[in-house]
Amino acid sequence: MNLCHPDSYKSCSACCGVYNVVDGRREILNGSFLERTKKFRNVAREVDALIGFGDHVRGLHNLSPLDPEIHVCEYVGFVDGQNLTVGCMLHPAAPGNNGVDLRGLCYYGSAACKTFYCPACEELSARILKIVRTLIGDWHLYGLIVTDVNYLMAVIDLIELLIDAKLDLGTTLKPAPAMILRGILAWKESWPYSKGSRIRRSGYYLKRQPMDQNENFLIDVIIDSLCFSFDISGVSCDSVSFVRREIGAFIKAYHQANGTVN
Ligand code: SF4
Ligand code: SF4
Repeated sequence: MNLCHPDSYKSCSACCGVYNVVDGRREILNGSFLERTKKFRNVAREVDALIGFGDHVRGLHNLSPLDPEIHVCEYVGFVDGQNLTVGCMLHPAAPGNNGVDLRGLCYYGSAACKTFYCPACEELSARILKIVRTLIGDWHLYGLIVTDVNYLMAVIDLIELLIDAKLDLGTTLKPAPAMILRGILAWKESWPYSKGSRIRRSGYYLKRQPMDQNENFLIDVIIDSLCFSFDISGVSCDSVSFVRREIGAFIKAYHQANGTVN
């Protein structure tokens, strides 16, 4: 499976800096990408016009990076006819480019854009990717989830620790458990303890950390990952109880769907 672009309904552009902004909420980023995609359709594929487009986008939207080490690229937009998949508008396969690679105009340079793969590309198994691809329907959440290996694996490890078995794919994707697990994964963009933060940070560059297969440790990893995403601090007792309760609800639905005793 292509992690960056798993199907025609969603994609990831985290390494192009899309979440490295002060307001990374879905509606804000969607609006910005729609606007620039529409404008880009009428931009001549000539160096001056393309550079002018980049300047225009920078003037229009606040692209000040949260993390100064990560460039927020002005050439990210929707690259499909339905405005569902985000990606590089300078890519040779992007609409209107007629196979010409324009990524040489990128801040990082063309070679970096062509060759970069985040740690998740190697570290996530096909089984985990199948769960994510099936449960997550849109680019904004998909990009946040698929690039956070530690969050994703802590959720899966915690469930598997508590059921004392590997998750069965068929059972996990049945309607009742799937709905609860989708809600758990969606904490990455709507966490009840986010204190109203507008930040949705991606740690796409972070490698998988060793994880103690211990309930408290795994819950800490989940909450730490969420604190990182929303740029907040502090683990409250309420948030720990909430995680336990929702994971418990998933396990109950999983056992019911599987016909096993909880
Ligand atoms: S962050 Fe990883 S999955 Fe996302 S677009 Fe970049 S390489 Fe692909
Ligand atoms: S030019 Fe590079 S950084 Fe910008 S959107 Fe394309 S691939 Fe991403």
